[in-house]
Amino acid sequence: MTALTLKTRFAPSPTGYLHLGNVRTALFNALLARQQDGIFLLRLEDTDRERSLPEYSRALLEDLRWLSLEWQEGPEVGGPHGPYTQSERQVLYRHYYALLEQREQVYPCFCPPAELALVRKTQLSAGQPPRYSGACARLSEAEREARRARGLPATLRFRIPPGRVVEFHDLVRGPQRFSSDDIGDFIIRRADGGAQFFFTNAVDDALMEITHVLRGEDHLTNTPRQLLLLEALQLPAPEYGHIALIVGADGSPLSKRHGSRSLRELREAGFLPDAVNNYLARLGHTYDSDGWMEPAELAAGFAVGHLGRAPARYDEAQLLHWQAEAVARRADESLQIWMGTAVWARAPADRRDDFIAAVRPNVRFPADALDWAERLFGTDLALDGEARAAIESAGNDFFRQALAAYTAHGAAYQPLVEQLKAATGARGKALFLPLRAALTGLTHGPELARILALIPAELARRRLQTWC
Ligand code: GLU
Repeated sequence: MTALTLKTRFAPSPTGYLHLGNVRTALFNALLARQQDGIFLLRLEDTDRERSLPEYSRALLEDLRWLSLEWQEGPEVGGPHGPYTQSERQVLYRHYYALLEQREQVYPCFCPPAELALVRKTQLSAGQPPRYSGACARLSEAEREARRARGLPATLRFRIPPGRVVEFHDLVRGPQRFSSDDIGDFIIRRADGGAQFFFTNAVDDALMEITHVLRGEDHLTNTPRQLLLLEALQLPAPEYGHIALIVGADGSPLSKRHGSRSLRELREAGFLPDAVNNYLARLGHTYDSDGWMEPAELAAGFAVGHLGRAPARYDEAQLLHWQAEAVARRADESLQIWMGTAVWARAPADRRDDFIAAVRPNVRFPADALDWAERLFGTDLALDGEARAAIESAGNDFFRQALAAYTAHGAAYQPLVEQLKAATGARGKALFLPLRAALTGLTHGPELARILALIPAELARRRLQTWC
């Protein structure tokens, strides 16, 4: 017997740009599939026709590819179970609606939405879970006909079997148990004929042969409903794992307020994809190693058993840490593109490699590289307060000697420093800080020897001259 191929999926609704929460869900599903030599499928759940926009679908594919979260089945890639966009699957859904109708596991509901909303509100304010009363479940065929004749629109509701216990083993949260009596009959088709999430999501997982679903904890209570639906349709159910939500420092669900940005915004700010992956793969999931991991290692070390049940706390400092690690490892050519054309408009073409080698440890974002390009090659130098203080405490004579040493040795670092030491008696910080401050306007940055080698001679001389 051949073992069943593991198949995971990411099923976003294209109603906005990907945010870190759903990117992490995509990543976990992709890593699980890769770890098991399985398949990662992408499905666009655009059942909300008003809020789903083609622009968001396009952005989604682009963003996932930017992160190297390649899907083996799905939009633009194809596969045996397409189409992979729900709005193109209406014919299939109609077949399964008809099946449920034949088996009388569904019924038309004529309750006006305003009335349902009011009942819901009353139930919630009385501290009860909102649950459909079942009014239309008891209508006779004649009563239904009468309503249809009056032109009343009807949704389609799934009839929840009474007195059932729905049990399943959650991959993350362990054994789960729900009573069907706590679940109201729910809508699976809108009055305008549009399919509803519970239905399309469960049906598509079955038809696309999904074996494992990792999704947000906010879907946990949907699972017993979907299991009952799949049972009624005699379709197989995947295994579900509900992952803890991401929260901000104050413990509330992650939002813009906590500094969370869409993946697009992170990318535009210059975050590197491997930094985002190293960060997100550890947000609510643990690895044996705390060190940097290449994509293949992130996949190899991924385990469902390492997913945490406690909410995962978003920490921008951690993301920045992985960003620095990613910049340290990025190949020169790719870093050159990432730094941007504005940098290369300032740095001379024959100094590119030296510039990258010099500033790499001090750069986290393209804006930092641009700042260094301006400091090392630009005519106007901005001095910060510490630099000014270092220059002032060194005094004019120090810079007269520095200029003399530079005139004698140019960018030859060792002899220049030796001569300056001998002439001024300055050592350590008292020597390096004012020199660095006058040359770069800052008291920290790349190695001084590399800076000296990069700054055009005329510029270096002028900067020392200023303080003589
Ligand atoms: N379209 C749903 C969402 O974005 C999918 C939920 C699921 O993963 O099952 O929330």
